[in-house]
Amino acid sequence: MDLKDHIRGIPDFPKPGILFYDISTLLRDADAWQVAMGRMANRVRAYHPTVLAGVESRGFLLAAPLALKLGCGFVMLRKPGKLPGATVGLDYALEYGTDRIEIQADAVEPGARVVVVDDLLATGGTMAAGIKLLQNVGAEVAAAAAVIELTFLHGRDKLDVPVETLVQYD
Ligand code: AMP
Repeated sequence: MDLKDHIRGIPDFPKPGILFYDISTLLRDADAWQVAMGRMANRVRAYHPTVLAGVESRGFLLAAPLALKLGCGFVMLRKPGKLPGATVGLDYALEYGTDRIEIQADAVEPGARVVVVDDLLATGGTMAAGIKLLQNVGAEVAAAAAVIELTFLHGRDKLDVPVETLVQYD
């Protein structure tokens, strides 16, 4: 199955000039979702993670079922102010301005082997921040994984861990 047949590109969303790759058409198709998760599981399993970290919000939709499938725990990397209890955050640069992600301070045991999961790797800024934040709280980040990679943005070059993606657009 070509997963690209189930991913649609929506021009000028959320702002003019952005081609938004929409995975909701993939998730709503039972077979395509199953195939995508199976392929992700095969890639991610090779890193023997104990925990998968999902990036808010579409990363949750992939990381949580994948974690169940692989027998891993699941932790959330969230936008600021969403997580209860003590949190640790990291500010990171966007093309214009900055953003911040947070994790619960006690989310991972020291030395946990984590794979970070998101729907799409673009410039790599979000993934790089997620990796750094996990490392800051004591995790060993084994890999980063996404369904989609925009190869022309060279996001993987920003990441100091192996990167697994299922479909690429250039
Ligand atoms: P980046 O930090 O530039 O790698 O952007 C990755 C994050 O932004 C991911 O969480 C994606 O869900 C989202 N994102 C960036 N560009 C797109 C796009 N063209 N289509 C869909 N989501 C995108």
